Amino acid sequence: MLPVVSHAEGVFVYDQEGRAYLDGCSGAINVNLGHSVPEITARMREQLDQICFSYRTQFRSQPQIDLTARLARLAHGDLHQVEYCNSGSEAIEMALRLATLFHARAYRPFKCTVLTEEPSYHGMTAGALGASGHPLRRRDLNALLANQATVARVRPKNGALRADVDDWEEAITRVGPSRLGAVVIEPVGGASSGAVPAAPETLRRLRELADRHQFLLVADEVMTGLGRTGRWFGCDHAGIAPDLMVLGKGMSAGFMPISALLVSDKVAQALDHPLGSLLFGHTMSGSPLATATALAVIDYLQDNDIPARAARAGERLRLLLAGLNRRHPLVRDARGVGLQCALSLQSDPHRFPGTSLELTDIARQEGLLIYPAGVTPVLESVMIAPPLTVTDGELDELALRLDRALTRLTPRAPATDAH
Ligand code: PMP
Repeated sequence: MLPVVSHAEGVFVYDQEGRAYLDGCSGAINVNLGHSVPEITARMREQLDQICFSYRTQFRSQPQIDLTARLARLAHGDLHQVEYCNSGSEAIEMALRLATLFHARAYRPFKCTVLTEEPSYHGMTAGALGASGHPLRRRDLNALLANQATVARVRPKNGALRADVDDWEEAITRVGPSRLGAVVIEPVGGASSGAVPAAPETLRRLRELADRHQFLLVADEVMTGLGRTGRWFGCDHAGIAPDLMVLGKGMSAGFMPISALLVSDKVAQALDHPLGSLLFGHTMSGSPLATATALAVIDYLQDNDIPARAARAGERLRLLLAGLNRRHPLVRDARGVGLQCALSLQSDPHRFPGTSLELTDIARQEGLLIYPAGVTPVLESVMIAPPLTVTDGELDELALRLDRALTRLTPRAPATDAH
């Protein structure tokens, strides 16, 4: 049975029994600033006392206006319009709707195929799950996933973990550029692959192909966005701007549900009714409280130079994980970008997922929270992604607890480098 949570401070969460857990995966890789940040909760309280909710077709709000301007400035390219939702899945759905509408309005309704990668994870709602290259989460749900006819997948060849330029080019030819409406890609894998990055040249090539064949490039930055990878956005590592960018998780660092779809001028201008109209969002989309919270988070990220801090902490974390990789034969690989890291594990194909769930459980007993990931036995892994504010001492403690958990998982592991 899961412990009952009591309270939290920084990277530590406490249960009702008084046990402390070091949060090695930022909740669901969203509590990017740790669990208690007075600068943020004070701003939330201020907003609570003014107004929590106003409906987006009746009012704009100052926090929302400011947040949109800030996100547009931070992102590369012409992503000047922002639509708000409450979860990553909802914002992915909105990206799929906008991509479809974009081509329909331009008299290209046949450009409605969405090409995604396997492995990938884009969310749990029907459209987002249908677009996800995540057979484990899609299993037995095909009857519900109405978009299966309009989703195509690219799979990496030759035992590679992510599709490369050739794989994407082949898939685009197979679908046919005249039918391809959008490509959705995670710059660094999350729940799908366990922190395997797409090569920067793959992202750059996809940008060129999108321009040449008139499909939209959609970056799913729900996990990577806003500092997690050591840059503001995952796409920044490749120096490209997508046509649509989806943000979630770290946007409010776990303080409120909020997500966003950043929309390029090209797409916004092609729609015949304004974004933000009745035809788009959800009831709670972009409320003053949620947008004020996200704005406070972004202020904190900027004022404290958090993305650069995450890049430095990530280097230390990868060294520590590489050490664990050498010591424990059940670890196959240590990888990641910034503080989006993972240990890939020896998997038992007959009881997959097994090793990752078992290790997550043992780690919790050792006072460490980690996040199981991977869509196939080859990708079975645990994500190690602490808050971006983690200190060096806390990273060392994380590695110590993980070492103890791995030792219990592999009682006969040789204590040498011999594997
Ligand atoms: N896309 C990615 C890359 C994600 O990591 C997630 C959440 N793990 C989602 C989409 C879905 O977000 P949510 O759980 O907020 O719906």
